[in-house]
Amino acid sequence: PGVFALANHHLSIATESSWKHRTSLRVPNLIGGSFVDSQSSEFVDVINPATQEVVSQIPLTTDKEFKSAVSAAKEAFPSWKNTPITTRQRVMLKFQELIRKNMDKLAFNVTTEQGKTLKDAQGDVFRGLEVVEHACGMATLQMGEYVSNVSNGIDTYSLREPLGVCAGICPFNFPAMIPLWMFPVAATCGNTFILKPSEKDPGASMMLAELAMEAGLPDGVLNIVHGTHDVVNAICDDDDIRAISFVGSNQAGMHIYSRASAKGKRVQSNMGAKNHGVVMPDANIDSTINALVAAGFGAAGQRCMALSTVVFVGDSKPWEEKLLERAKTLKVSAGTEPDADLGPVISKQAKERVCRLVQSGVDSGAKLLLDGRDIVVPGYEKGNFVGPTILSGVTPDMECYKEEIFGPVLLCMQANSLDEAINIVNQNKYGNGAAIFTTSGVAARKFQTVIESGQIGINVPIPVPLPFFSFTGSKASFAGDLNFYGKAGVQFYSQIKTVTQQWKDLSSDSGVSLAMPTSQ
Ligand code: NAD
Repeated sequence: PGVFALANHHLSIATESSWKHRTSLRVPNLIGGSFVDSQSSEFVDVINPATQEVVSQIPLTTDKEFKSAVSAAKEAFPSWKNTPITTRQRVMLKFQELIRKNMDKLAFNVTTEQGKTLKDAQGDVFRGLEVVEHACGMATLQMGEYVSNVSNGIDTYSLREPLGVCAGICPFNFPAMIPLWMFPVAATCGNTFILKPSEKDPGASMMLAELAMEAGLPDGVLNIVHGTHDVVNAICDDDDIRAISFVGSNQAGMHIYSRASAKGKRVQSNMGAKNHGVVMPDANIDSTINALVAAGFGAAGQRCMALSTVVFVGDSKPWEEKLLERAKTLKVSAGTEPDADLGPVISKQAKERVCRLVQSGVDSGAKLLLDGRDIVVPGYEKGNFVGPTILSGVTPDMECYKEEIFGPVLLCMQANSLDEAINIVNQNKYGNGAAIFTTSGVAARKFQTVIESGQIGINVPIPVPLPFFSFTGSKASFAGDLNFYGKAGVQFYSQIKTVTQQWKDLSSDSGVSLAMPTSQ
């Protein structure tokens, strides 16, 4: 069992400050370095999506508790800001080591609360770990600039300084990776942080916070508050919070973006997607089919970079037959089962939504090549499972195409030419990712040039860049100016101060002039 499941079976140890040895299923907040139980009377169950067991409960943090978390972050800021960057980096160096050591425990918790397979959960942790590794060398990205002698005896230089208290609001689908996109970068830049994990799977955030503190992150630098809309709105409105990182749906993301920007905050908001894979007739059939199956059905389609729509250029029939053949071999089961290829979707409501959108496709004329809606998984009959589902003959006017499905459903479309396929992709409001499968450099180069999505794959189905680049979704998939991690991530969590200094012999000062100073 994962750490949360263990909570029930361990006696509490009086001298142990750690939250994880408590007997209660209730997840504490983290405020000023202490795990504290919320005084709230309202809790939300965290449910294992494969079994419906209640794994833990998160509190709807009270306003008073939220304010004390912000105060703790505010208090911790001056000394953390003045802590040498080398020391801050060393905390990350230790943190990455601890994440590695605890990889299995973290992954197990992710599988228990989120449902994805253990192997995929390891990937979730690993992709976050890479951001921590990148943070270990972040000093060079925080360097300022210097111009000597902009005028007689005057130099100007710029410094990149932290903002103060920043906050992060997380989605359910990557419970380890997405918190790690946020607080390690913010903290290494010298900020303090308030993290609001997804109410559906808070466990990985809790474990990561504990490891970060063990690595030497001082009290108050990272705080965690649980809850849903109310605490999110409190984050948007709070005058002491300077910047918000959000990842999740468009509905929540645009609400947060407008509410927080109206308060003068910086916001980076990564949102929904509809990622297309364009398959050229010259593509390698086996590797392309493998890529489509992995990227369409992996993590039960609950990735913001899942390839949920395939556009076949030319005759799609032979491709669809192969796709069907391969998809049928996938094993659907609880993520803890060693042979599972995909686990459940996150909730009963998510399953209902996926099934409704599939039905809407059928009703508007799409052909259901593979139907995973009625799947029963032996031993896990109560789980929210949806098997791999394929709809063909999908057209842009269909609801199943316009809406993000976020389930193991692959939509197949057809185009007569690359231009027609490109047009379909660019007409879509989202712009997270798009991939082309081809052996033609000319086609690939054209695709890269004219596609409007922010992340392009060429024979790569899920082109999520490593942390020395940034996660660059665009159009309706992103709101803000500065993307997550990479150079842009450091810029997001820092502000520039410019200093103009004059050091010259003042003995020949020529007196006062009230005219605008110029540098001639
Ligand atoms: P969600 O928007 O429902 O929840 C995200 C967070 O926002 C949660 O912490 C939740 O408590 C909060 N929230 C939800 N509704 C709110 C509201 N009305 N007011 C205030 N706060 C609210 O998203 P989710 O279902 O957890 O995640 C899935 C979505 O996230 C998908 O759309 C997916 O594409 C997107 N996503 C995008 C990226 C990316 O980088 N572009 C990455 C992962 C997930």
